[in-house]
Amino acid sequence: MTPIRDRSILGIFSIVLFLCLSYILFVITPRLAVNISAFHGFASILVLSFNIAIIFSWLNFGIIGGLLFTILSFVVGLSGAIRSGCYSSATLAWSYIITMFIGYSHWRATNKLKQTFALKSEKRDEDINILSDNIYRKKGDIKHLDEKLLRYLILKDVAESLTTTLSLDDIAALIIERASNTIKKEGRVLLYLVDMEKQELMLSASQGAQSVKAKKGDVFDRWVLKHGIPLIIEDVTKDFRFSSKDSEAAKEFFRSLIVSPLLSGNKIIGVLRMDSLNEGVYTQDDLRLFDIIGNLGAVAIQNAFLYSWIQELAIRDSLTGLFVRRYFMKRFQEEIKRTARKNGALSLLILDIDHFKSYNDKFGHATGDIVLKYLARAMTSSVREGDMVARYGGEEIAILLINTDFERAGKIAESIRKRIEDEPFVLRREKQNLTVSIGLSNYPKDSMSEEELIKIADSRLYKAKSLGRNRVCEN
Ligand code: GH3
Ligand code: MG
Ligand code: MG
Repeated sequence: MTPIRDRSILGIFSIVLFLCLSYILFVITPRLAVNISAFHGFASILVLSFNIAIIFSWLNFGIIGGLLFTILSFVVGLSGAIRSGCYSSATLAWSYIITMFIGYSHWRATNKLKQTFALKSEKRDEDINILSDNIYRKKGDIKHLDEKLLRYLILKDVAESLTTTLSLDDIAALIIERASNTIKKEGRVLLYLVDMEKQELMLSASQGAQSVKAKKGDVFDRWVLKHGIPLIIEDVTKDFRFSSKDSEAAKEFFRSLIVSPLLSGNKIIGVLRMDSLNEGVYTQDDLRLFDIIGNLGAVAIQNAFLYSWIQELAIRDSLTGLFVRRYFMKRFQEEIKRTARKNGALSLLILDIDHFKSYNDKFGHATGDIVLKYLARAMTSSVREGDMVARYGGEEIAILLINTDFERAGKIAESIRKRIEDEPFVLRREKQNLTVSIGLSNYPKDSMSEEELIKIADSRLYKAKSLGRNRVCEN
C-alpha cells in the first residue's frame, strides 16, 4: 500500500496540478492574446495533463475525490479543448473516461487489498490478543506458583525454626516474629496461652504493642477459644457477631483483626492474633497462612510443654511434688559456687517428722502419705520463690535457703516448726499433734563444702531428736 505521506503528496500534487492547468488554460493563455491554436502542442499537453490530476486524485482521494476530479477535468479540460479547438472533445472525453477507469480499478484493487489486509491484521490482532492474554495468564500462574513456593518456603522455615528450641518463651517469641514476618502487614501480633489451672487466656508474647491492656485476651480471643475456629474481622464496628458495646470499646485499640486457635489434638491451648488500627487490613489468604503458623506453633508449644513436663517428672518426687534428692544435690553444689562467687551466705535445713512411724502404724501407710503431702505443701508455702524444698529421705525434707545468713535461717526454721505445731492437722476427724525436728547448717559459718553442710545439719537434726524432738537445733 502507498504510504500515507506519499499519498497526501499525490493528493496535493493533483490539486495543485489541476489548479495550475486551469489557471494557465483560462487566465494566462487568453492574456497572451494570441490564437491558442498557434500553441496546438502546448494546449494538447495542458488538457491531457488533467489525466494526471485525475489519476492522482483517484490514488489519493478514493472514489469521491476521483469522481469529483474526473467531472471537474471533464468540465475544465473539455471546455479548454473546445476553446482552443486543438483537440477532439471525444478523444479527450475518452481519455478522461479511460483514466477514470484506471483510477477506479486502482481504487478497487487497493480497496480489496485494504480489506484483505484489514482482515489479516484483524486476525493478527486477535492472535496477538489471544497470545498476550495467554502470556498474562501464564505470568499470573507463574506469580501464583512463585507465591505458593514462597509461602511453602516460609512455612518450611517456620516449621524448622520452631524445632530449634524447646523453651516455651523462645517458641512464643519465634511464633510472634515469624507470624509478623510472614503476613507482612502493619499491626500488633499477640500470643495468648491457656492457663490450665485457671482455664483462662494469659498473654505469653507480643510484638508491635507498647503495652497490651487485655492481658487475659478480649471478647474476640474468647470467641475463638469458645468456637475453636479462626476469626477474621474487617471492621469491628460492623461485625454483627459482637455487641456494639464490645465494638465501641475495641475500636480505640484496633479496627481489623485475625485470630487463630492453637489446636493440640482437639484441645485449644491458646490463640494467635494480629490486629491493626486500620480497617480491612487482613485477607482470607492472610488468615489461612496465619492459621498454619498457629498450627505449627501449637505443635511446638505442645512439645515444649511435654518436654518440661518430662523434665519435671525427672526432678520431682511423684508423691509430694518436691524436688528429688539427686536434683537437690546438683542444685546445692551450683548454689554454693554461686554464693562463693558473690561472697554471700546460704543455709540448709533438714527436717524430720517426729514419731512418723506411729502415724503409719495407727492409720496405715496411705494416711502417712497424706501427712507427707500436707507437709510438702506447708514447706513450699513457707519459703521464698528462689529457695528450694526437696524430699531428702523417706519423711525427711531438705530446705535450701538462698542468700540467708545463720540468724535469719534460725528464725525461718523456728517459724516453720511453730507453724507445723500450731496448724490444726486433722486425720479421721481427730486433731493430730504433728511436730517436726529441724537441724540447721550455714554457709560459710559452719562449712564451705556441701557434704560437710549436710553432715552438720543431719547431726543437728539428730541432736534435736535426742533433746526431745519438736525443736530446731542450730549448733
Ligand atoms: P523419729 O521421731 O525418731 O523420727 O521417729 P520416726 O517414727 O519418724 O522414725 P523415722 O524418722 O526413722 O521414721 C521413718 C518412717 O517413715 C518409716 C517409714 O514407715 C516412714 N516412711 C518413710 N517414707 C514413707 C512414705 O513414703 N510414706 C509413708 N506413709 N511412710 C513413710
Ligand atoms: Mg521421723
Ligand atoms: Mg526419718
